[in-house]
Amino acid sequence: METIHQIAPQRVRLVKEGKDEGGPVIYWMTREQRVTDNWALLLVQNIAVERKRPIIVVFCLVPAYPGANIRHYGFMLKGLQEVEHKLQKFKIPFVLLRGTPPEILPGYLAKTKGAFVVTDFDPLHIKQYWQQDVAKAINGSFYVVDGHNIVPCWHASSKQEYGAYTLRPKIKKLLPDFLCDFPALVPHPVDSNKVSAAPIEWQKVYRYVTDHSVQEVDWLMPGEKAANESIRGFLKNGLQAYDQKRNNPNLDGQSDISPYLHFGHISPQRVALLVNKAKVHAGKKEAFLEELIVRRELADNFCYYNENYDRFEGFPNWAQKSLDAHRSDKREYQYSLETFENGKTHDELWNAAQRQMVERGKMHGYLRMYWAKKILEWSANPEEAMAIAIHLNDRYELDGRDPNGFAGIAWSIGGVHDRAWQERPIFGKVRYMSYEGCARKFDVKQYNTRWLSK
Ligand SMILES: Cc1cc2nc3c(=O)[nH]c(=O)nc-3n(C[C@H](O)[C@H](O)[C@H](O)COP(=O)(O)OP(=O)(O)OC[C@H]3O[C@@H](n4cnc5c(N)ncnc54)[C@H](O)[C@@H]3O)c2cc1C
Repeated sequence: METIHQIAPQRVRLVKEGKDEGGPVIYWMTREQRVTDNWALLLVQNIAVERKRPIIVVFCLVPAYPGANIRHYGFMLKGLQEVEHKLQKFKIPFVLLRGTPPEILPGYLAKTKGAFVVTDFDPLHIKQYWQQDVAKAINGSFYVVDGHNIVPCWHASSKQEYGAYTLRPKIKKLLPDFLCDFPALVPHPVDSNKVSAAPIEWQKVYRYVTDHSVQEVDWLMPGEKAANESIRGFLKNGLQAYDQKRNNPNLDGQSDISPYLHFGHISPQRVALLVNKAKVHAGKKEAFLEELIVRRELADNFCYYNENYDRFEGFPNWAQKSLDAHRSDKREYQYSLETFENGKTHDELWNAAQRQMVERGKMHGYLRMYWAKKILEWSANPEEAMAIAIHLNDRYELDGRDPNGFAGIAWSIGGVHDRAWQERPIFGKVRYMSYEGCARKFDVKQYNTRWLSK
């Protein structure tokens, strides 16, 4: 193959070899919504250059993606506007199709004679089903590229890992092979004149989004450019103190890049490369890279290899047994979804964390653990607790509907990636967290005042 970009073959999976009908090479963009540092798009350009074909980037806009509302759609659509604009500089048309991919994409590919389709790896059920259905319905070849994990998910491990302690050595061993710089996309040398891609009427596209029940946020600008500026700001001003400040919800010690990573506005690999270059003590970098690489890639590993990642059945056996043994324990407080959602529990700290998520679209990472564990404590059973936590997380968090969310909730409620602790009511051997424990770690009053006085 005449390659112009070096791409590790382990990053690419050929799902189906099909017929080449001579049409353009299609990048079906899903998880990685950016132009720069995008391995799938680079692969597309390799295939297109070798066969002298134009490229089309296609995005399927689904009107009612589970859990998503205008908070998420607004952020995403603004990012996609930037993608359209940026692709023009590379002479690559961008097409926005409306509908679910299995309904809409095969027809579009047949019409354009799209011969090769490349898409992004995503371990979540809905994306896996879409990919299977699209692969079945098309004649051309179909590739999946993992542009989200620095060490490709299926290459890092072939099974569900027990915890960070088992994945970490595997990642560390492979990291030198994968943590390389990216080749640059080039203006596409093959004319795309015959490919029609009318400019997108974004105002009309916005009207397509029906769920406006949660408001958009304005403290974080979406898109590739904003993501890059934001991470550079954090590296300059925040990385130095990250290890000391990140667990204190009163301090802005986290990087706030999770929404960008979730929508693919920046590549985690680029972030890791920038961190490595930062003029900060190695130990400080290590603390951040542990979260960015090991914990984040562990979440993809969990969702990819555990088909019950969003259910009680996905918990480890010891946790299932132990939670089962405590099903009939008395719950001093038991709340409905509505009471949780409105932040009307007896616990001010919990209510304040809920308010932070509803207002800001991003709850502090330390409190996410407390928040989910209390939902277990105050729900009728672990299944209901899982469903409530996932519903609220995905509805309000800008970074929701992400493997990190499913893994975080399963860790909090079901002991996933954790060990057994001392047995206690309701939780069994699942790790417990208390209000008093939080009060020992940070000024709870200050946090409550900040979020409850709004
Ligand atoms: C109950 C619960 C729900 C969660 N829901 C989500 C979610 O919906 N989406 C989401 O992206 N994260 C979720 N997390 C993980 C974590 O809390 C967030 O990734 C983090 O708070 C995001 O803020 P940040 O980018 O400022 O993080 P930073 O502390 O600056 O970390 C940088 C990056 O490292 C990764 N990271 C940090 N902590 C974790 C972790 N515990 N697990 C996996 N990756 C991590 C993230 O990609 C994060 O963006 C959840 C955790 C819990 C306990």
